[in-house]
Amino acid sequence: MLKLPRNPSDRWVKCLSSHGNIRGVAIQARSLVRAMAELHEIRGTPAVCLGEAVIGALLVASNAKGTERVNLNIKAAGPVRQALVDAYPDGRVRGYVISSELASLAKHGTWGEGLLSVLRTKTERSHQPYIGTVPLLTGQLAKDLTFYWSQSEQIPSAVGLSVTIDDDGKISGAGGFLVQALPEATPEEVQLIENQIHGIQSLAEELQDDADPVRLLSAIFQNSAFMVLEKREIAFDCHCSWEKVSRALALVGADELQSMLTEDGRASVRCDFCNQDYLVTGPQLEEMIKSSRQH
Ligand SMILES: [Zn+2]
Repeated sequence: MLKLPRNPSDRWVKCLSSHGNIRGVAIQARSLVRAMAELHEIRGTPAVCLGEAVIGALLVASNAKGTERVNLNIKAAGPVRQALVDAYPDGRVRGYVISSELASLAKHGTWGEGLLSVLRTKTERSHQPYIGTVPLLTGQLAKDLTFYWSQSEQIPSAVGLSVTIDDDGKISGAGGFLVQALPEATPEEVQLIENQIHGIQSLAEELQDDADPVRLLSAIFQNSAFMVLEKREIAFDCHCSWEKVSRALALVGADELQSMLTEDGRASVRCDFCNQDYLVTGPQLEEMIKSSRQH
């Protein structure tokens, strides 16, 4: 389990139009995304992709129920081969990207062609997880997430993501928004909000200097009153543990464990989400081999 420094400016703010027909959430995540990119030692486009996936997963989680877990899984043909992010309705998030060896620039948006999957799991075991998968139609995550919400969850939505880098390829800004029309919304209300979203000059500007996400919501809802429903700090959190890692290791089977024991006398397992190394000693490996052969 590894902790990253927190910045109270990193947060989401949820709101509802005063008629109760349109809901919105805006996220400021500059420090969070910057710290996660540093943790994974990535810069440039992979860092931008990580930031977009992290904000996208948090947008999904912000509307999830208290006990749900959200996994965003993107498989793409661009500079990033895969992005995996876990996010929770209490604002916790962890994730990583796997860069492509062929560091080619995607012709198809930032991400290239691929698939975007959102898995929503209730913590209670009795519930079936819900999974929605859509193709990356544009390779631009904000547009493809908009498509995901209209296709998989049948909610007319508008999504904006902004992740910027400085001259060294380090994260200089990160945030985004999600606005959704509830079933009672009139076409006029939806049109008005759409016009205001199109009228935002620069999403990056609305988010700069760790700006409060309320500022972004004000730009989106400018001509319609809204109520703030929730402000919540968002933070990196990896809940890996030696127990979880060793349970996963046991699944590779007795023969594989035996060859680790013979070759190295121990095993070292790294958590991909936080890069923490866990050591499994020789006697612990022997114990695992024994119980693996019994089953
Ligand atoms: Zn971890």
